Amino acid sequence: MCGLDVTSSSKCFVMAADIQIAARKISSVNPATGALLRQFEGASAADVDEAVARAQIAQMAWAEVGVSERVAVLREFQRGLLEKKLEIAEAITREAGKPVAEALTTEVLVVLDAARFLIDNAYRFLRDEPVPHGNLATKLKRGRLLRVPYGVIGMIAPWNYPFSIPATETLAALVAGNAVVLKPSEFTSLVGLELQSLLHAAGVPQDVFQVVAGEGATGVALIQSKIDKLIFTGSVATGKRIAVAAAERLLPVVLELGGKDPMLVLEDADVDAASSAAIWGAFVNAGQTCLSVERCYVHCRRYDDFLGACEEKTKKLRVGNGMDRESDVGPMIHERQLRTVEAHVEDAVARGARVLAGGRHLPELGKNFYAPTVLADVTHEMRIMREETFGPVLPVMAFDDDDEAVRLANDSEFGLAASVFTRDDARGERLARRIHAGTVMVNDLVSCFGISEAPHGGVKSSGVGRAHGRFGLEEMVRLKYVDVDLMPGMKKVWWYGYGMRFAQQMEGFLEMQFSRSLQDRVQGALRAAGVVKRKRL
Ligand code: NAD
Repeated sequence: MCGLDVTSSSKCFVMAADIQIAARKISSVNPATGALLRQFEGASAADVDEAVARAQIAQMAWAEVGVSERVAVLREFQRGLLEKKLEIAEAITREAGKPVAEALTTEVLVVLDAARFLIDNAYRFLRDEPVPHGNLATKLKRGRLLRVPYGVIGMIAPWNYPFSIPATETLAALVAGNAVVLKPSEFTSLVGLELQSLLHAAGVPQDVFQVVAGEGATGVALIQSKIDKLIFTGSVATGKRIAVAAAERLLPVVLELGGKDPMLVLEDADVDAASSAAIWGAFVNAGQTCLSVERCYVHCRRYDDFLGACEEKTKKLRVGNGMDRESDVGPMIHERQLRTVEAHVEDAVARGARVLAGGRHLPELGKNFYAPTVLADVTHEMRIMREETFGPVLPVMAFDDDDEAVRLANDSEFGLAASVFTRDDARGERLARRIHAGTVMVNDLVSCFGISEAPHGGVKSSGVGRAHGRFGLEEMVRLKYVDVDLMPGMKKVWWYGYGMRFAQQMEGFLEMQFSRSLQDRVQGALRAAGVVKRKRL
């Protein structure tokens, strides 16, 4: 790993366009207790370049190994992770705050299943594919589609799912034959290192997977290094900066960015189930989930019942250190994130929203705790309904009919995911088709991230490209087309040796192949006759 424990105060500098950015010391801190877990020196641009150079060399041998052997390494990784499931979950809780049970379900389980999906399917999805030709002129050729690894994939990850996000992407990249250089979030470097240990123990060569710890400056250095593709997960603001930097050098990128996911509760919904879903969807990981419910729209006839149920259930939630097995909601990652939540709630209240539960910082538990909050009577004029809050807040608004619900859901710059709650599946699916989002779930939410077969990714400001499933694997390969002519000694009819006769023959050939009228096709065939025997240079 680059970015070692701090032993000296030497600074490293990274050139970002013409701005000089200092790579600073980074501290890994337990967000529940404030305890310092470890300090690192941020990896410098030179460290990043070295890591990428080593990865380039190691990747060549890794690509040669073949898919079945790489699948065997994934199997070993899966075995090792299963064995260490609790150790990994606790490491996640210590550094990112979420309750251990959540770390097991939303991180470890997701990665074990992503490995299962790739073990079962990678060979089938990555093997060469025949490309039959429909055009008569190219019938005597054999086409094949190859899926070739990019080489070195750079990954920049966030802190909110510090294990499952980089691990699911890394497994797909590795099985496709790439090397990976991962820059974890500066808040969760230790979890990045846990992933590294598991992969190396499973047989991934040291230089095929490397971690470079650091802040944004290390990320900038990774983008400017010789990586072949970048997979970025993080905020829209950083994603836009990265898109600009990547465009400068035509670096292909996947951008998995923020969300403001709407939940629609239709008139016929089961209010008990929908309210339980809403509070979990809004407060899971203390609301710091890209797919969390950030806006909730409820049919006006169910509005009061729904709010009552949410209020009652929210007040029963236990907030505390995620290591305590009785905690439902852990701390936020840091005070800055908590201040954003406070500002959004204050803005909503000032504009007329009612606080039914929570609505306040919980300093008695620690500086990063915020009470799970239910807000009623919110409007689209409030920040809480327009900007990503990324905290434990459920803002609820009423609607009159399905059309209004869809209009409100689509009135956002984001489009990551959405959910619809109804007793009528078909109605739910009809609405799902009208909502602008990468994923829409009917009668559940957030769990799409754990469906290994499902593509994950957004539209509008929520990003570009897909993770997970077949399409996530496709992001890890370049498509290469190879075509073999089956008549190597034959001069092709379209080669030189043009003239009036040839032009007439080609007109006939086009009629023969594409005309809708049988008569024209027969006449075209007669005009085209002799084209194969035509003299060519
Ligand atoms: P962030 O954008 O602040 O940071 C993400 C990563 O980018 C970190 O590793 C950070 O060090 C790095 N970085 C920062 N500036 C950089 C720069 N100029 N160049 C290169 N790298 C840079 O995001 P965050 O606070 O870590 O994560 C929360 C955000 O991520 C939320 O907006 C959330 O919605 C989003 N997110 C999206 C998904 C998804 O799948 N769509 C998943 C998880 C989180």
